[in-house]
Amino acid sequence: MENALLSLDHVSQMFKRSEGRDLKVLDDVNLSLKEGEIVGLLGKSGSGKSTLLRIVAGLIAPSSGSVVHSSAGVADGQLSIAMVFQTFALFPWLTVLENVELGLEALGVPSKEMRKRALAAIDLIGLDGYESAFPRELSGGMKQRVGFARALVVNPQILLMDEPFSALDVLTAETLKTDFLDLWLEHKVPLKSVLLVTHNIEEAVVMSDRILVFASNPGRILSEIKVDLPHPRDRQSMAFRIMVDQIYTLMTSGMAKPGAAIAEKSAEGTLYDKLPRVSPNQISGLVEALAEAPYHGQADLPALDQALGLGTEDVLHLVEALRMLKFAEVSSGDVKLTAAGKMFADAGTQKRKMIFAEHLIQSIPLAAFVYRVLQSRPGHHAPRIRFMTQLEDHMAEEDAEEALSAVTSWGRYAELFAYDDNAETYSLENPSA
Ligand code: ADP
Ligand code: MG
Repeated sequence: MENALLSLDHVSQMFKRSEGRDLKVLDDVNLSLKEGEIVGLLGKSGSGKSTLLRIVAGLIAPSSGSVVHSSAGVADGQLSIAMVFQTFALFPWLTVLENVELGLEALGVPSKEMRKRALAAIDLIGLDGYESAFPRELSGGMKQRVGFARALVVNPQILLMDEPFSALDVLTAETLKTDFLDLWLEHKVPLKSVLLVTHNIEEAVVMSDRILVFASNPGRILSEIKVDLPHPRDRQSMAFRIMVDQIYTLMTSGMAKPGAAIAEKSAEGTLYDKLPRVSPNQISGLVEALAEAPYHGQADLPALDQALGLGTEDVLHLVEALRMLKFAEVSSGDVKLTAAGKMFADAGTQKRKMIFAEHLIQSIPLAAFVYRVLQSRPGHHAPRIRFMTQLEDHMAEEDAEEALSAVTSWGRYAELFAYDDNAETYSLENPSA
């Protein structure tokens, strides 16, 4: 890799679990940070982003693979790395100045020099006048400015940011992003490279030179997208919207089968696919909304995300459910109802249940499997553990639980089978069928 300051080479991470098999959180991640770039790492929560950052920072050693530091272009041959956290991580009993000085204490900087540098960092990030304030006296945005000052005060070559704007309200986050980009673009800080972790697609496109789209379970890099739009980036511009659309599409189709080729039209599912845990009500609601004005069957994903106001992750899950059930297709950042989706939207309650049941059997292998097991058993019932045991041999426990919960709520709605919560038992709704 040309002039990489730091690279991860085939990094994987397993975590020990109290019971059962180990959890694989990162799978064969390769990435490099080059001089002069902001790299965005975009992924859902739980996909292993923070774990990856901790590995890059050297806070944990990866289970396998390596972290390679280059000494080229670094004065004393030592890469200095600092981190900004989502939760600010300030000490409540220390003032702003003292919190910032903490960044230098570990480096053994003499106290006079420490003060001078801390004051300069505070000034740089726009906290002038707040030196003696305590964290509780500051707004969220100001607290995060302290977080930035504490990271920047060490003059790091690499800055790692773990969702640094996601705890802030939208306007505050925008201001801080702009201020940070200004420092970076104007070379007011001696940073050489930045790794920004985020789950916010627009934020990644606003900030990054390169975006790595991360898939979950296990975390791995699905694709890399270069962003060569000039700064300041105009969110309303065609080029910006196209890029956002493209990433939405990648993230929707990449969700069910991490690591699978990112075909917009994905292959048939398997029994052990992750299933998004969304309720039949939510599914019906979205199909209805899509069928009506202003969408009339087709919607731009980012626009739909905005209009629904549920949060990007929930919207992606919902759209994913529609796609898996073949009520909708996703391409070029648009979600489009299929003929079956339109039929579902137009149907009354009973007809909807029938359509739903049909699609469960045909398109959701786990639903078909539960149904078949129940049909084949004398008495037509089976305990939940029958299915959990099998799923857990192939999936992480949480994923197995999620998938089974999703299928349970969908199967109940479709009256394909019944589930007794107390007895934890499935039974056929209509054994003669
Ligand atoms: P993200 O930052 O993308 O939300 P994380 O890296 O925090 O994801 O976590 C990824 C997965 O790894 C989660 O399922 C989490 O529960 C698990 N995990 C993280 N740290 C540990 C740990 N020290 N021990 C066991 N599991 C962990
Ligand atoms: Mg995280």
